[in-house]
Amino acid sequence: MRNKKMRTHAMYMVLSGLLVLSTTAARLRAQTAREIDTIQTASGAVKITPVTHGSVMLEFGGKVIHVDPWSQGDYTGLPQADVILITDVHADHQDRAQIDKLKKAGTVVIAPKAVAATITEAQVIANGEKKTIAGLAVEAVPMYNLQRGPAAGQLFHDKGRGNGYILTLGGKQIYFAGDTECTAEMKALKNIDIAFIPMNLPYTMPPVEAADCAKAFKPKIVYPYHFRGSDPQEFANALKGTNGVEVRLRKWYKQ
Ligand code: ZN
Repeated sequence: MRNKKMRTHAMYMVLSGLLVLSTTAARLRAQTAREIDTIQTASGAVKITPVTHGSVMLEFGGKVIHVDPWSQGDYTGLPQADVILITDVHADHQDRAQIDKLKKAGTVVIAPKAVAATITEAQVIANGEKKTIAGLAVEAVPMYNLQRGPAAGQLFHDKGRGNGYILTLGGKQIYFAGDTECTAEMKALKNIDIAFIPMNLPYTMPPVEAADCAKAFKPKIVYPYHFRGSDPQEFANALKGTNGVEVRLRKWYKQ
């Protein structure tokens, strides 16, 4: 009787061990398929994980920052958020279900007022404001359409509703443009180390227009993101020979 019990216990241990191993292997596979960049700052490295479309994860100083987390991304094996930044009200940016999956005790959500109407726990920051929230230096930059919209006289993104963000991490300025065309505010940005610029139609702008914008403010490193339906290579080609601007093409979609 006793032996039988021990055998059953041993069998259980082996089986649960196998389960842990196979789960770990699945996680590793998901992680190794990711294209993660590590960039040095004055106070340690910032790790950048493209997730999908407008969704990015940053890791810096022991903090995990998720930008516009969206359920269409693969979040397998990615850590919970210390901070979540939301740019706008559209479903690919404001996704209650994915925000809830990434939250843990103490997670801080940062968003514009229009988002806080739904994501009610969000701390609000408006266009042009600079704040330190959860120990993070955040600046909200306007993001909006100049000409593109669902009908004549309408825009997909009205000025003032959404936020682009500049985060300062270890002295590096990291800019998430959000859904925007090439605005005067974007062209006037200074000292951006890393930029994420959208280029899908009809909602934002075509790659060549995005490249003109990058030529204006010269981010040291620039990632095309939020480009479904467009070819980011067109953006890279248009920036060839532009001194001081490095384009990084990464895998953002499953295909
Ligand atoms: Zn979008």
